[in-house]
Amino acid sequence: MRIVDSVAGYISDRPAGDIGFVPTMGALHKGHESLIARSVAESELTVASIYVNPTQFNNPDDLAAYPDTLVEDKARLESLGVDVLLLPTYSQIYPDGYRYQVEETQFSHELCGAHRAGHFTGVLTVVMKLLNIVRPRRAYFGEKDYQQYRLISDMVETFFLDVEIVPCPIVRESDGLALSSRNLNLDACSREKAPLIHQLISSELDNDEIAGRLKDSGFEVDYILSRDGRRFAAATIGRNPPVRLIDNVPLAGAGEIK
Ligand code: AMP
Repeated sequence: MRIVDSVAGYISDRPAGDIGFVPTMGALHKGHESLIARSVAESELTVASIYVNPTQFNNPDDLAAYPDTLVEDKARLESLGVDVLLLPTYSQIYPDGYRYQVEETQFSHELCGAHRAGHFTGVLTVVMKLLNIVRPRRAYFGEKDYQQYRLISDMVETFFLDVEIVPCPIVRESDGLALSSRNLNLDACSREKAPLIHQLISSELDNDEIAGRLKDSGFEVDYILSRDGRRFAAATIGRNPPVRLIDNVPLAGAGEIK
């Protein structure tokens, strides 16, 4: 695996051909692995990136607490058959100091966007930059971050970018908890409660009842909302640090919503 720690270095010796790209923020788990395995299976070359993008963190404590497992991540990517790992820095990605931004004005303000000011502008801006640097034929995104996937897919269409955005199903723990890098920050008590989110949004309870039950169990609930044939949840558990968890399920699999 070639490790490239400079955007200029990547561009000056850019891999060509049928490239699959998996952008990540590291602290890799089986969810990321599923995207990478798919890219490796479908592409001549797979490029992965690890970049914890500060512009998508509305909360500095959340950014500071974001897990970092770079040594293990490199070994994992190598063993999965990744060809190139891009590890850019802030000044390489934002030579403009983030003067230029990609902003969506509607859906990005709903769901997570209503609770994380500027989050999706940070996401869309960094993904636009990474796609322009890597120039993949396909880029893989998890449905765990369903709103992110939809916004990126629409951005690519809107700006006529020549890349296919491939959605990948959510990988879960055996108790239903959606895998997330942030799960590393759950203390034992919060880890025990965390699967409740998936259990409840997959049940026949209505959204308000679900929010009530989560609050009763110690969660701080950002939203439980149904739209576009899915039920979406975001809730925070624990204190040291607080861990914000998101999840979604198709309504067809969620029984009859009252
Ligand atoms: P992140 O490192 O959290 O930015 O995630 C990188 C990519 O992995 C994104 O496209 C996520 O949607 C995807 N991803 C994260 N967790 C999961 C999961 N549990 N199942 C499937 N994809 C995931």
